[in-house]
Amino acid sequence: MVDVLVIGGGIAGCTTAWYLASEGVDVILLEKGELNGLASGSNAGSLHAQIQHEPYVEYGANWSKRFLPALSFYAYSIDLWLKAESALQADLEVSLDGGLIVAETGQQMRNIESKAELEQQAGLATVLLDGAALREVAPYISQDMCGGALCPLEGKANPLVAAPAFARAAKGLGGKILSGHEVLNIRRRKNEFVVETSNGTFQARRIVNAAGINAGVLAAMVGGKLPIQAFPIQLSVTEPVAPVVRHLVYSAESMLTLKQTRAGTILIGGGWPAISDRNGRAQVSAESLSRNLAVALRVVPSLADVNIVRSWAAVVNGTRDWLPIIGELNCAPGFFMNYVPWMGFTGGPAGGRIVASLVQGKAPPVDFDLTPFSP
Ligand SMILES: Cc1cc2nc3c(=O)[nH]c(=O)nc-3n(C[C@H](O)[C@H](O)[C@H](O)COP(=O)(O)OP(=O)(O)OC[C@H]3O[C@@H](n4cnc5c(N)ncnc54)[C@H](O)[C@@H]3O)c2cc1C
Repeated sequence: MVDVLVIGGGIAGCTTAWYLASEGVDVILLEKGELNGLASGSNAGSLHAQIQHEPYVEYGANWSKRFLPALSFYAYSIDLWLKAESALQADLEVSLDGGLIVAETGQQMRNIESKAELEQQAGLATVLLDGAALREVAPYISQDMCGGALCPLEGKANPLVAAPAFARAAKGLGGKILSGHEVLNIRRRKNEFVVETSNGTFQARRIVNAAGINAGVLAAMVGGKLPIQAFPIQLSVTEPVAPVVRHLVYSAESMLTLKQTRAGTILIGGGWPAISDRNGRAQVSAESLSRNLAVALRVVPSLADVNIVRSWAAVVNGTRDWLPIIGELNCAPGFFMNYVPWMGFTGGPAGGRIVASLVQGKAPPVDFDLTPFSP
C-alpha cells in the first residue's frame, strides 16, 4: 500500500511527485507511456503570466474577470520555476526577460491597454509601450508595430528537460517513477483505492490525477465528471541563429508566441490548429504553418532568411473557462485533481506544490484563494 499514487508523467505529475517526496511522503508515479512523452515534452516552453490576448478578445471582459484569480496562480508558479533550478540542482533553462505583446493598429493597442488595466488591478506590473518605447525595448520588432505592453514576469524554460528533472529528483528522494503502467481501472475499497494497470495492481491511500487530456477518463472511474477538453495544435523551430529575440513575443493581430532558446533556435507557435488524422493522431496543418510563419515575419521581419527545421503537432489540454482544476473530488474523498489547462507547463510547479499539500491535508503555502479552481 502506497500513501500517494500519482497518475501521469508529465509536468503536473512529476512536480507533484517531487514535492511529495521532498516532504517524505511515500509516492509512486504511474505513466502509461514514456515520461514527458505528451504535451509536457512537446510544448513551446513559454512561462505565461498575463491574460492571453485571444481569449480576452474572443470571450470579453466577463470571462477575463473570472479568469483573474488564475494570474496569482501563474505568478506563484513562475516564482517556483526560479527556485526549482537550485532545489533540483538542474539547469531548466529558466529565464525571465519579459513577455512582449505588440500591436499593429490603434484598435489592437486599445485591447492591449484595457487588458493591461485588468492585469494591473490583479497586481501584475504590465508596462504599456508606445512605438518609440517599443523600439527601445525590442529593436528587433518590426517598425510597423505601433506599440505594445511588456509583462516583466514572463519568460521561458526548456520543456525537454523540465519534467524529467523533477522526476529524477523525486526518485533520488525515494519516490518510485514507473513508465509503461497504464491505469485501466480504479475502485474504491473502504479507505483505499485499488488501481489496476497494464502492469499489475496497486493499492493507494490517496490518488493524484495528473493525466492531462486523459484526466476526465480517470476521474470518471471514481464517478467524477469534469469539463476536460483536448485540441491538436502545432509548433515550429528554426535553425540556430545569433541572439536576436530577447523576449517571449506575442502579437495582438493573430496567434503568435515566438522566443529564442538558449541554443539559438527560434520557437514559433501560438496555438495554431493542427489536424487529427484518421487514427486520431495530431498532424501538422500546412495552412496553419504558413499563417503562423506569416504573422511571425510581420512581427520580426529579420527572421525571413532563417530556415524552419521542424514542425510538430501535439494535443493541448483545455477547459472552457481556462481555469485550473485543483483539489479533491467531492464524490471520491482521497482523489485529487492536478489539471492546469492551456498553460499547464507554466502552471506545473504551482499545481504540484499546491496538490502535494492538499493531499497531505495541509494548507498550501499560498496567499491566494483556491476556491475558483475547485473541481
Ligand atoms: C504544442 C503545444 C504548445 C504548448 N505551449 C505551452 C507553453 O508555451 N506554455 C505553457 O505553459 N503551456 C503550453 N502548452 C500546454 C502544456 O504543454 C500542457 O498544459 C501541460 O504540459 C499539461 O501537463 P500535464 O502533465 O497535465 O499533461 P501531459 O504532459 O499530457 O501528461 C499527462 C501524462 O499522463 C499520462 N497518462 C494519461 N492517461 C494515463 C493512464 N490511464 N495511466 C497512466 N498514465 C496516463 C500520459 O501518457 C501523459 O504522459 C502547450 C501544449 C502544446 C500541445
